[in-house]
Amino acid sequence: MSQSKKFETNAIRTQIERSQHSEHSVPLYLTSSFVFDDAEDMRASFAEEKEKNIYSRFTNPNASEFVEKICKMEGAEAGYAFATGMAAVFGTFAALLNSGDHILSARAVFGSTHTLFTKYFPKWNIQTSYFDVSDLDQFEGLITPNTKMIYAESPTNPGLQVLDLERLGVLAKKHNLILVIDNCFATPYLQQPIAFGADLVIHSATKLIDGQGRVLGGVTVGRSDLIREIYLFARNTGPSISPFNAWTLSKSLETLAVRVDKHCDNAEKVVDFLVTHNAVEEVRYPFHHDHPQYEIAKRQMKRGGNVIAFQVKGGLAGGQRFIDAVQLCSRSSNLGDTRTIVTQPAFSTHSKLSEEDRLAVDITGGLIRISVGLEHTDDIINDLRFALDAVL
Ligand SMILES: *Cc1c(COP(=O)(O)O)cnc(C)c1O
Repeated sequence: MSQSKKFETNAIRTQIERSQHSEHSVPLYLTSSFVFDDAEDMRASFAEEKEKNIYSRFTNPNASEFVEKICKMEGAEAGYAFATGMAAVFGTFAALLNSGDHILSARAVFGSTHTLFTKYFPKWNIQTSYFDVSDLDQFEGLITPNTKMIYAESPTNPGLQVLDLERLGVLAKKHNLILVIDNCFATPYLQQPIAFGADLVIHSATKLIDGQGRVLGGVTVGRSDLIREIYLFARNTGPSISPFNAWTLSKSLETLAVRVDKHCDNAEKVVDFLVTHNAVEEVRYPFHHDHPQYEIAKRQMKRGGNVIAFQVKGGLAGGQRFIDAVQLCSRSSNLGDTRTIVTQPAFSTHSKLSEEDRLAVDITGGLIRISVGLEHTDDIINDLRFALDAVL
């Protein structure tokens, strides 16, 4: 009997076959290749007349199990897992775009994605222009005859702007453009962009999906015709995920819902504290009522996530004093870890951008991004209070 299952169940129970050992937990298939029963089995496998693993650069049971879970969570037809989030981002573009194509991207995207647009894609005659997430009225004016793809993150990194996914989904359909959403900050637990019209969803699984700062990974899921192209590109160029990382990430998904709920509980408490401290000038959190796109966030997200952006007094120097003063929180560029992490984007993740480009996406010197972890909130808040006092 086939029943449709809820998110938490799909995160734990999959159809993967057990070996003769009848293991309960899915084992790690650390093998580069697979064997065939006979010549006909080999022929039929290569001809894709049967679904069989051939070589782990193409597919591997651990990668397939991880992808199956993400597809169920995102409501996607198919997917492919990559070695890193950036391999997923690049593999998606490289598989689907041709020389002469044009991408319309949200202005604020992950630093390395921005570098793809500015440094590498022009070499292959792929041009990018940018739209403002908060001003979709301007969007249609930016479409050109060779626009092929729309690319965006929501919430954005690090400014936490929220994009109206439903409205963008309608615009993508109207103009027959492929809508790709990097859903890393929200995770499939908090937001499912395909329901709002996205064709493809990308995750850096390195962040909240792993959630414990251990392994890198990425995944693209969505329309099966597009995933087929992405799979063929990846199978021939080799950015595939390792079985070990896929196994680790698949295990992590089993606890995604409980972890992300706790991350959100903690983040909400940290927001409530930050707004009271007089070294803090502005707090940005999707589910805080002051957020400019609060209503949109409420419509499309289950909760606000674990990342908070805030402005400290004293600009760049104030930000540095804060970063220097934390004792519990980690100074790191990662996010979505059990450990709370503080970053000053102007000096780290977004230092490659010109100051003008940074300011266009609200990355001022005093902007701090905090990825709230799973430590006790009393300890997180005490550390933040201590560091913020040092700014004044
Ligand atoms: C980290 C991140 C990426 C890149 O992922 P890696 O796994 O580090 O390659 C892409 N997009 C967003 C929004 C990210 O936060």
